Formats: sequence, C-alpha cells, structure tokens
Amino acid sequence: MKLSNHYHQLGEAFSQEANPTPVSEPVLLLWNSPLAESLSLEFSLSDDAELLAQYFSGSRLIDGSKPIAQAYSGHQFGYFNHQLGDGRAHLLGDIKDRSGQCWDVQLKGSGTSNFSRSGDGRCALGPALREFIMSEAMHALGVPTTRCLSVVVTGEAVYREQPLPGAVVTRIASSHIRVGTFQYFAARKDFEAIKKLTVFAINRHFPEIEIHKTSDENSNEIALNSQQVVDFFAAILNKQVKLVVSWLRVGFIHGVMNTDNSAISGETIDYGPCAMMNHYHSDTVFSSIDRNGRYAFGNQSKIMQWNMARLADCLLPIIDEDEAVAMAKIEPLLRQFANDLQYGYFAMMANKLGITELSEGDVELINDLLALMQESKADYTQFFVTLKGHLTQIKLNEFFIEIGIVEQEIQEKWQAWLTRWYERVVADLISAEVLMAKNNPLVIPRNHHVEHILATCQTTGNLSPLLDFLTVLQQPYTQLDETKHYQDKPSDDDENYHTFCGT
Ligand code: AMP
Ligand code: MG
Repeated sequence: MKLSNHYHQLGEAFSQEANPTPVSEPVLLLWNSPLAESLSLEFSLSDDAELLAQYFSGSRLIDGSKPIAQAYSGHQFGYFNHQLGDGRAHLLGDIKDRSGQCWDVQLKGSGTSNFSRSGDGRCALGPALREFIMSEAMHALGVPTTRCLSVVVTGEAVYREQPLPGAVVTRIASSHIRVGTFQYFAARKDFEAIKKLTVFAINRHFPEIEIHKTSDENSNEIALNSQQVVDFFAAILNKQVKLVVSWLRVGFIHGVMNTDNSAISGETIDYGPCAMMNHYHSDTVFSSIDRNGRYAFGNQSKIMQWNMARLADCLLPIIDEDEAVAMAKIEPLLRQFANDLQYGYFAMMANKLGITELSEGDVELINDLLALMQESKADYTQFFVTLKGHLTQIKLNEFFIEIGIVEQEIQEKWQAWLTRWYERVVADLISAEVLMAKNNPLVIPRNHHVEHILATCQTTGNLSPLLDFLTVLQQPYTQLDETKHYQDKPSDDDENYHTFCGT
C-alpha cells in the first residue's frame, strides 16, 4: 500500500503537517474487506491484522504518507467560526481505486493537531462503531457517503463523562473538501487560494470541466475563467440534489448540517448526531444540541440551499471582480437548485409510490399522503413496504392493522387516498412493483437496534451481533431470513432518544 499526498501539495495555507499520536495497544476490530478490495489493498486479515492495527491507529505510517490536518472554517448552527480544522483527524494521503478514482484516507480519533484547541483529539469506541454501521448502511441504501475502512481500538481510555474505550476510525472519502474549506480562505480574502482549491476540486471531482494550463510555463497564475467556476458550482449543486433527495428517501436525519460538515463532493460526511426517522414527521429531530430543530428532517433541503449560498459567497470574487456581475451568474443557479431539489423530491416520492414519471395531480397525491402519514404517525419505512404488499389488491382491513390505524375517521381518509393511489398505478402494476422495490428499503439502521448493538458490543466485547446486523444492512432491499429481526419500529417511538456529536 502506497499513498500519494495531493492535498498536502497544495501548500501550507491549506493544511498543517501533523503526525498521528501512536497508541499503546492497537487492535483491529473491524475491517471493511469489500471496500479494501475496491481500493486494491491487498492485506490478509489473518496474516496482517497486527500491521493493519498499526497503520490504521496511526501508530505506524503507511509508505508515502505525509499526514496533515486540514484547515477549514464553518457556520455552526448559523454562526461563523473561522478557525475549525481537523482537531482529531489526520489525512494520511490519497489512493487510487481499481477504476482510477482518487480517495482520501483519513484517520479520525488519531490525536491532536494545532487545530484541536481544547479537545483531546480522540474518539470513543461507540461513536466509531456507529459511524461504521451507519455509513455502510447508507452506502448499501444507495446514498452517496464517505465510508469506513476500519475501526481499531487503541487500548487507551478517552474521558468523556466517564472513561470509555478509545478507537480510531479510518474514513475513505472522495475528498474532505467542505463548504467550510472555501469559507476559510474567503474569510481571509485569500482569493488565490480559493482559485487553487477550485482547480484542485475540479480535477478531483469534475474532470469534465476542462482547465487549461496558462501558456506561460513560468507563471504561477491559475488560468481559471469565470465560466469554469460557474460550471464547478453547478456541478456541486447537482451532487447535493442527489444527496438530500436520497436522505429524504430513506428517512435519514443528518443532524448537524453545519457548513464544515457539507462536503462539496455530495457525500454524507460526519455521522455524529445522525439518526433515522421512525414515524413520518417533518419536524423530527434527535440531536441533543439541535434545540430549535434547525436540522430537522424536513428542513434539510432548505439548509442545503443555505449552505450552498454560503459556498456561492466564497466563489463570487473569483467569478467576477464586480459582485453584481458575479451574482447575476450565480443567482439563476441557486434558483434552479431550489427547483431541482423540489422536483427531485417529488419525483423520488412518486417512485416510492410506484409512479414512474410525475404528472398532474401527483404532487397533491404525495402531499396528501404526507399529511395523512403525519396524522396517523405511520412508520416511514414500514409504510411503503406495506403499501407495496397491497399492489395486487388493497385489503383494507389488513392495511389498517399493518399501519396501526384504528380511528374510523382516519380510516375513511386513508380509504379515499388509497383509491386515488391505486387508480394512478393500476395501469402498470409491474413497473410499479419494480420501482417500489428499488426505492423502499425493507430495513434501515433503526436507532434502537443501532444503540442496542453498540451497547452489547461494548459490554460483552462480542462483535457478532454487530456483524450480523451489518450483513442485513448491506442488503436493505432483499428479504433475508434475518431481516425481520431488525424491521420493527421502536416500542416507545424513540421518545427519549437523543444523539450526540461523538465521532
Ligand atoms: P465535528 O463535531 O466532528 O464536526 O467537529 C467540529 C470541530 O471540533 C472540528 O474542528 C473537530 O476537529 C473538533 N473536535 C471535535 N471533537 C474533538 C476532540 N475530541 N478533540 C479535538 N478536536 C475535536
Ligand atoms: Mg465535522
């Protein structure tokens, strides 16, 4: 295994050299073999476990690695913090996969850097395992996401309210460039750095936007024209549409969509306080620090628009010196983004209902459904699976029992809605079934199962419940024998469930 250091090469304004702090007794706990294989990492778990524990705890450096802590800023809950940066993460370098795509290899929980301020630079085992489970589940659900290559326990305690076992998680991401990375340079009015970052990001993520070298070989000037920056921004927006619509499809609540946790690649990043929605309610929030519901389930499209507007602020000066001219180029894109999110959302919801193409009346059908689901506290995952079961014939009584609707008045509303839905899909039931099967997972990483499994692993040291769970989560659209163990909604509706910024 050999790493390159492309981000490091951007220079010292972008990152600081920082070595991970070795740990006393690293033991490899989880290794993502399929991911390792796709990255052509040829390790054998039986022969190389010790070496892997050394590498992926940061105790021993991988060939070619020049670890850095990346600089970034960020709006946290709407307030700008100009100095964030990797306070407990180290970017070891990057690696190409079999198809030639470049991936960042980053350790998290691997010690302090100059960006740490008061933090200890470490990560507790629970949140590390949680990130592994959630990101693997999201990947299998078809949601763009960073992934975890490994979890290594450190043999050292981390001190939160009580001492907890420490761990280092290795994150693989197509990059770690955040909206906050652009904001870091915008806050310093370092427009050359913004250009440099833009060129780097275009080469990494959007090579279809061609950038030509300046004709003068000795010049450091970056030949980036305003159209390329506009195209870059448009490409980022497209990625975010897919991201947010995917979250909304599976009931994912990111929980902390600060601009430093918004990757321009459109990958889900930072699994700290995330959670899954049970019954449908657009205001659903589990994060203990999100008191005003800024990052509630149903706000995620709006917040992504806000984050992208913050990114636009950073790009304006490199589009045109005249802000009004630059704005005139960016504003239509932001308007289009709002439309794309809305259209993408309804098209996705239509697919969940077995409708191939949105047509007149569908938006109303969807909105009426959401209102009914909210009123009936229908479970977001179970509902669509149940509905699919009634495609050949609606059996009303069974439907009411399955969804848990007893009140006659609500039953009547459901009956009316079901009739409308059926009329809409009946012409092509085969396509409807295929679409519904593809868009409605049978199983998601439900909060109560995740927490129960994490607790079991931590108290008994036995990983097999977690591995069994992962096997099911890796095939969320296939009914395996074991799937049924994880499909139940929580008996208490997760009433007192709260998540924290752990990893
Ligand atoms: P996060 O909650 O992971 O998005 O982190 C926000 C900022 O706090 C980032 O700059 C982190 O690097 C930093 N941070 C969070 N936890 C720690 C920790 N235990 N030690 C050092 N820095 C931390
Ligand atoms: Mg973060």
